[in-house]
Formats: sequence, structure tokens, C-alpha cells
Amino acid sequence: MASCMLKRLAEETGLYYDGKQPMLTGLYHGYPVALTWLSSARCMMVSASAAALEVTQPPEMLFSGIRGQIKNVRSAVMKGNRMEIVYGLSRLGEKQMTDIRYLLDCMTAFLANNRWQPSCENCSSPELAFAEVGGVARCLCEPCTAQIEAALEQNRQEKSQKKGNFFTGLIGALLGALLGAVLWVIVAQFGYIAAVVGLIMGVLTIKGFELLGGKINVASIVTCCVIVGVVLILANVISLGIEIYSVYQSEGVTIFDCIMAVPAFLAYQEIASAFWLDTAVGLLFTYAALIPSALNIYRNKTGAYSLRRISTSRPMSGGPEC
Ligand SMILES: [Zn+2]
Repeated sequence: MASCMLKRLAEETGLYYDGKQPMLTGLYHGYPVALTWLSSARCMMVSASAAALEVTQPPEMLFSGIRGQIKNVRSAVMKGNRMEIVYGLSRLGEKQMTDIRYLLDCMTAFLANNRWQPSCENCSSPELAFAEVGGVARCLCEPCTAQIEAALEQNRQEKSQKKGNFFTGLIGALLGALLGAVLWVIVAQFGYIAAVVGLIMGVLTIKGFELLGGKINVASIVTCCVIVGVVLILANVISLGIEIYSVYQSEGVTIFDCIMAVPAFLAYQEIASAFWLDTAVGLLFTYAALIPSALNIYRNKTGAYSLRRISTSRPMSGGPEC
């Protein structure tokens, strides 16, 4: 459905859509433009790339005019030679397509009227090509694309070579989990099933592991899950022990005696089922927070990147069609 609309927009604007990612690229009124539909951010990034060779009207004049006319414009800025307008949309319908074409018209008219030269958005080279970098379509000359690719690759290699220390990570995870356990016991005293504390506990554990130098991989995620699971059960034992103490306090027992008596109390079906239900709910929320956070850290730490050259079918010679 979305790709049908993009195909239509491509036909209407004369831009190129390769069907691989939700982006259109090409020349529009002689200027290199790129559209990227970021559906998760509910916006379309519209950019045109040109260099000002002489003193011209400031683009801010154009931006304030556009903002006044189209209310869905979230931002309009110059980033080097890249004029970028972010247009908010949740779907690509008729109105949105009309707005986007209007944005392209305004941008390229401004560039042509002020005699800006079509160029790479990074340097001012007139040699034009397109590439997807980190999910965004950009107009870059080949040397700039190669340079960005080399920097990303170097960053990835440096990150992948970094060694972690599993032992210190383990200590960090334990400290994080214990901190969560303290919260768990406190909240349990107020009679709540601590779903939110479960979430916090999961994050604290994995962050503790990472902060003390642990490298996130499958083995460390499994280890953190085991640690937090054991700590959570212990926290629940302590909570139950405190509860028992509040009942038998007058009989001269200590909190410690009560905690030690928890296994005996768990022989009662009713107490045991409530205990394990609390534990299961806590674990569910803990893992629901721990695993996504771990994957997030993993992605950032590996320096994984995406870069793809977009080969347009059209000849790429710039220059305003005046
Ligand atoms: Zn360049």
C-alpha cells in the first residue's frame, strides 16, 4: 500500500523509487532532491542539495514562508549544502502528496531564483549521486560517500575489537540487580505487585553489566537473566519474611528467623501460589525490560551501520531548468 503511494509520488514528481526502501531520489527542476519516509517517526524528510556561490537571500526567509503555509512542517534547516524540511505525516494520501510537491517546488524555486548550484550536500562538488546512509536518502558525490563509508567501517571495526571484562560486568549486573531488589522489597511492603520495579530491575541489571565493562552478547544476556531471576526470588523471600514477621512479631521472633522460615511457609499451597505468581509477574516484566535494553546496547556497541548507493536510472547532470 505504502509502496503504491510512493510509486505514484515518483511518477508525479519524476523522481526515482527503487522499491527497496521508502525513499525517492533524483533531479527536480534541475536540483538533486531526496525524500525519505520515516514511518516510525511519522514524517517525510524532504531535502534538496545546492551550494550558494554568491551572496543570496537567506534560506530562513523561505523557511518562515513555508512554515506559515504548511502547518505539518516540523522543521526546516540548512545542514551544510543540504536544505532539509521535515514534514509530519501518518499516512501518504492526496493532501500529503500535494504538500510534498509544493515543498519541492518552493525549495527548488528558491534555489533557482538565487542561483544556487546543484551540488553534493557534503562538499560543493557538482558531481551528483545518491546514497542511503543510516536509513536516510542523501545526495552525495562518490568521494564523500566513500569517505563516510570508510569512517563508519572504521568505527565498526574499532568497536568490534574492544574487549569486555566479563567478571567486572558480572559484579555490575549483581549490584544493579541488588539495587532493584531493595526497591522490590520496599514496594512490596505497600502491598503492590511491583511490575514497574520489575522493569527497573531489568534495566538496572543490564546497565550495571555494561557500566562495569561487560560486553553484551548472548552469553552475557543469559547470565544477566539468571542473576536477576535468582535475586528476584530472594527479594520475594525477604518480602514474605517481613510479612511473616509483622504477624509473629509479638512472639519474640526476629526478622531473620522469619526469613529463614519462608521455605516452611511455602509448603502451604495458598502462600506458595501467591509467592510464585508474584515472582512470575516480576520476572516477566524484568525480562521484558532487560532483553530489549540489551539488544539496544548491543546495536550501539557494535557500530552496525547501513549505507547503500542508490543508482538512479536517470542521467545525473544538474543545473536549473530556467
Ligand atoms: Zn561530496
